[in-house]
Amino acid sequence: MNKRCPHCDVNFEKEPRFFDGAMYISYAMSVGLFLVSAFIIYHTVEGATENTYLIAIITEVVLLFPVMFRYSRIFYLYAFGGLKYKGEE
Ligand SMILES: [Zn+2]
Repeated sequence: MNKRCPHCDVNFEKEPRFFDGAMYISYAMSVGLFLVSAFIIYHTVEGATENTYLIAIITEVVLLFPVMFRYSRIFYLYAFGGLKYKGEE
């Protein structure tokens, strides 16, 4: 991750360990993913076992990890980092 935005020079490193809080956002996103996945599997897969849920959810978490990692940081920056969207200039 860059220390500063190369485009608008926003400082991304507010303070040491600033992004520790993003873990909670990531956790909330994971729980949401589990719930939605379990709901979809429950209603669409006939005869789903515990292993069906485990394999599906672990695969999703592994595949979506880079996306969730970045979006949790972005949401955290907007919520607690004082970052505001200014649009294209
Ligand atoms: Zn920028």
